[in-house]
Amino acid sequence: MTQAPSQLQTPEEVELFSNLRAQTWAEFYGQDTVKKSLTIAIEAARNRAEPLDHLLLYGPPGLGKTTLCHLIASELNVQTKITSGTALTKVGDLAAIITNLNPGDILFIDEIHRLPKAVEETLYPAMEDYALDVVIGKGPTARSIRLDLPKFTLVGATTKFGLLSGPFRDRFGIIHRLSYYKSLALQTILMRSAEKLHVRLRESGAIAIAQRSRGTPRIALKLLKRVRDYLEVHNQTEISGELVQKALDLFEIDQLGLDDSDRRLIELIIGKHQGGPVGLSTLAAALNEDTVTIEEVIEPYLMQIGFLKRTTQGRMTTEAAKKHLNNSNA
Ligand code: ADP
Repeated sequence: MTQAPSQLQTPEEVELFSNLRAQTWAEFYGQDTVKKSLTIAIEAARNRAEPLDHLLLYGPPGLGKTTLCHLIASELNVQTKITSGTALTKVGDLAAIITNLNPGDILFIDEIHRLPKAVEETLYPAMEDYALDVVIGKGPTARSIRLDLPKFTLVGATTKFGLLSGPFRDRFGIIHRLSYYKSLALQTILMRSAEKLHVRLRESGAIAIAQRSRGTPRIALKLLKRVRDYLEVHNQTEISGELVQKALDLFEIDQLGLDDSDRRLIELIIGKHQGGPVGLSTLAAALNEDTVTIEEVIEPYLMQIGFLKRTTQGRMTTEAAKKHLNNSNA
């Protein structure tokens, strides 16, 4: 795919973009049901002077799961320890983190569906009884001791709710699914971020970026950054709808926000497999992508806009996908 003019960020830019993270509830737009439910739960926990119930957030990447976790921590005035299902490979890794928490602290585990079974099962008593069972020694002399833990809150985030076992899911008191954002919410996020970046963003520009953001704030912010690069290189003063169109055409991001990877996937199924069905591993090999990226990053949006179907025999494209491809190649 064509790269943005300045893929390499200066330290100032890295700082600038990390500052774009919503810092308060007021800056967290959309997801109203989730927000309402969480504010009630936070208020109740505060009144009872107890830790918040364990919380599971699920949905596609970039929709605000990590941001929500930070917001909850700041509301409750507690610390957050961030880790992920892939980093916690052994029970000892979890024990090292969890025994260092303070009462009320939040343990955030991203990609929680990737936790090894042994680590997951160690979490059960930790979540229920705030206790950690550790085995000391090996062989016949091994013995298990139970350590008391501070009362903490586990916030789990996953893109694959279905992969969590029933017993694990049942131990979360609050479960929320984050959904794709409507254009208006994305426009508001873009307007606010443009202000922080000191870039002039016209309404037409915000609409055009939102339209190509696949309902995802992280993508909206990434596109804003690419368009800002374009603006600077072309010595323009403001981001209009027209400018967005030119910039994103250059970066090969089309009207629906589909990029090169999306189009290659659709083209492969239509061109080489007559619309499918095709198995995931065949697609991965032909595209030189890993199956996880295809399943978790590329496919969800294509399914959401009705371009792709997952069937028991494999992936199939729809008439709408074919039409879109024909139009964009015309
Ligand atoms: P996830 O953890 O679901 O992958 P993040 O929390 O890392 O997503 O969010 C990605 C980016 O999008 C962050 O910069 C975040 O500030 C921004 N963002 C996500 N949701 C919102 C929202 N509702 N309002 C404002 N900004 C948001």
